[in-house]
Amino acid sequence: MISAATIQQILSRIDILEIISSFIRLKKRGANYLGLCPFHSEKTPSFTVSPAKEIYKCFGCGRSGNAISFLMEHEKYSYVEALRWLAAKYNVEVEETEVSPEVKQQQQVSESLYIINNFAQKFFTDVLFNTDEGQDIGLSYLKRRGFREEIITRFQLGFNPEARDSFANAALASQYQLELLQKSGLVVLREERPADNYRGRIIFPVHNQSGKIAGFGARHIKNNDKGPKYINTPENEIYVKSKILYGVYFARMAIDKADECLLVEGYTDVVSLHQAGIENVVASGGTSLTPDQLRLVKKYTNNLTIIYDGDSAGIKAALRGLDLALEEGLNVKLVLIPGNEDPDSYLNNKGASAFINFITANKKDFILFQLDIALKDAGDDSSKKSAVVNQIAETISKINKAEDFTRQQDYIRRSAEILKIDESGLHALVNKFIREKVVKDEKRITAIDDKSYEEEKKYTQENFDDDAYSLLNRDELNERGLVRCLLEFGLKEWQPGKTVADYLLNDVIDEDTIDDKKLLDIITTYKAWYEANLEPTEKTFLYHENQEMAMLVMSILEFPYEVSDGWKEHFETPVPTREDTYREEVFSTVNYLGLRKIKRLIGINQTDLEHAKTPEEQLTLLQTHKLLKDMEIEKTKKIGTVILK
Ligand SMILES: [Zn+2]
Repeated sequence: MISAATIQQILSRIDILEIISSFIRLKKRGANYLGLCPFHSEKTPSFTVSPAKEIYKCFGCGRSGNAISFLMEHEKYSYVEALRWLAAKYNVEVEETEVSPEVKQQQQVSESLYIINNFAQKFFTDVLFNTDEGQDIGLSYLKRRGFREEIITRFQLGFNPEARDSFANAALASQYQLELLQKSGLVVLREERPADNYRGRIIFPVHNQSGKIAGFGARHIKNNDKGPKYINTPENEIYVKSKILYGVYFARMAIDKADECLLVEGYTDVVSLHQAGIENVVASGGTSLTPDQLRLVKKYTNNLTIIYDGDSAGIKAALRGLDLALEEGLNVKLVLIPGNEDPDSYLNNKGASAFINFITANKKDFILFQLDIALKDAGDDSSKKSAVVNQIAETISKINKAEDFTRQQDYIRRSAEILKIDESGLHALVNKFIREKVVKDEKRITAIDDKSYEEEKKYTQENFDDDAYSLLNRDELNERGLVRCLLEFGLKEWQPGKTVADYLLNDVIDEDTIDDKKLLDIITTYKAWYEANLEPTEKTFLYHENQEMAMLVMSILEFPYEVSDGWKEHFETPVPTREDTYREEVFSTVNYLGLRKIKRLIGINQTDLEHAKTPEEQLTLLQTHKLLKDMEIEKTKKIGTVILK
C-alpha cells in the first residue's frame, strides 16, 4: 500500500495538461485545451481539458474525469498503478505503509475462514461418499438427478448429515474457534449450543476465481424441508455475494476458449452443463447481476449469453442492471428455455447437442428483446409508448465506448425500425441522453448542491418525455426542424436583401404552422430579439434565463453526424457541411412541413366526407379534397423526391 503522505505529494504535483499531453496532442482554445478524443473516433476535436478545474471532458462521447481517471482509462491502469506511474514521472519516492493492525487482523480472519471452509468441504464430501447416510440420502439423490461421480468429485459436492451437530462437533474437536465457525455460516447457535446450519442438505462449495472455497450453497432435498431451497453463506471477509459467480473457477479456461460466457440461474444447471461437456458456464445465484460480477465476466470475454427458463421470475431480475453491461462494453444475448424446462432438465430430456443447437438458434439481442417486451406491454397507450422510446434511447446512450460507436448506430437503426419512428430523431434523443450525462458528470465535479441537481434531473426527465412524444409524432419533429433552421441559419442570406429569418418569420410561419406551444414560444422570443436587431443565434438561447427554453433549444440542436470514411472513397469533393447546404435544408423543411399539414387536412376532410349528411355538403367537401390533392402534388414536386409514408 502507498502511504497517504506519498499520495499527497503526488497529487500536489499533478499537472493534468502535462499528463494528457504525453498521450495526445492538445491545442489551446480560450481557457481550455482541445484535442482529438482518445476514447472515441472523431475528426473534429471535442476532447476538452480544463487546467483550471483539473478535469477533462469529451463533448462527443461524454467521457470525463481527472488526471488519475485518465491514466486508468487510457492506460488501463489500476488506481495504484496510476499513482506509481505519476510518482515515477514526478520523481516522488513511494513510501509503502506497513499493514495496520486492523488490516492484519482482517487478513488473519480471511485466512482462517479459507482453512475452515477447506476442512468443511472435505468433511461433507467424506460424508457423501463414505457414510451410509450420505450414500442413501445424498448420493442417491444426486444420481437420480443424473450426476455422475466424476462430476460430483470435480465440483467437490458433499452432504451435511441430518443430526443436530455432526459438523460442529468435528470442527470444534479439530480446535477451530466457535466464533470463526459462526462467521463462516457453517455453525449457528441454537438454544445457546453450537449446531449445524445445513443439516440434511447437499453442499455445493462456492469457489472464487482462484479456486479457493469462499462459501457454500446448501440445497434441501427433502420435500418436507420447510426452509428455503438454498441456504447460502452469509457475507463475511471472504464471501462477498456481489463479487461471486458460481462455477467461474471451473469455467474460466473454457470461457476464454469459446470467447463466450453462458450465465444460468442455478448451481445444478452449471454442474449438469459441465457434465454434458459445456464448460463455459457460470451461475449468478438467481439475483440481478452486479457490476463486480459483470467485470469478472469481462476479464475473460466480451460476450455474455444469459440462459433462463421462459417463465422464470429471475429473468426480470437478471435484466435489471444490465444497462451496466453495456457501459462495460459487454455484448449481451438472451436465450429463454421454453415450457417448464430449465437448462438442467432440457439437457436430461434432449441431450447436449440439442441444447447447444437450441442456444445457438435462439440467441436474442438483449436490447431488442427488452424493446420488444416493453412495446407489447405498452400496446396502444401513447404515453406508455413514449416512455418506451425514452427508455430505449437511454439504454442505447449507455453504449458509449469508442470501439462501440458502430454498434450504437446499429442499435439506433434497428430500434427505430421496430418502433416505426424516425431514425434521425432517435439519434438526436440518444445524443441528448449522452449530453445529459455529461452535464450530470460536470455537475458532480463542480459539486453543485444536491437540491438544484435534483430539480434539474426532474426537469430534464419531463423534457425527455416530451421529446419521445415528438418522435412518435413526425409533424412535431418537423416543427422542431423548422425552429432549428431559424436558430442556426436565421441570420444567413436567403435571397439578396432577405435573411432566412425574414423568410421564415414573414412568409412561412403563422399561428397555424406550429402546434407545439413551447416551440412557438421560442419563435416568438426569436422574433422579438430579431426585430430589436439583437441578432439572436442558438447560443443566445442556450444561456437564456428561462432554463426550460434553453434546455429545449439544446435538445433541438443536433450534434454533427460523424462523416463516414466511405464518403472520402466515393467522392472527390470535400464533405459538404450544413453551412454549405443550409438553403436546401430550409427549403425542404418548409416544404415538408407544408406537405404534412396538407396531408392532415386531407385526413380531416375525408372524415367529414364520411359523415356528410346532404349532397351539397358532400360536393363542397369533394371539391376541397380535389384542391388539397392538387396542393399535395405540387408540394411533392417541389421537394423533388416523393416522401410518402
Ligand atoms: Zn470522446
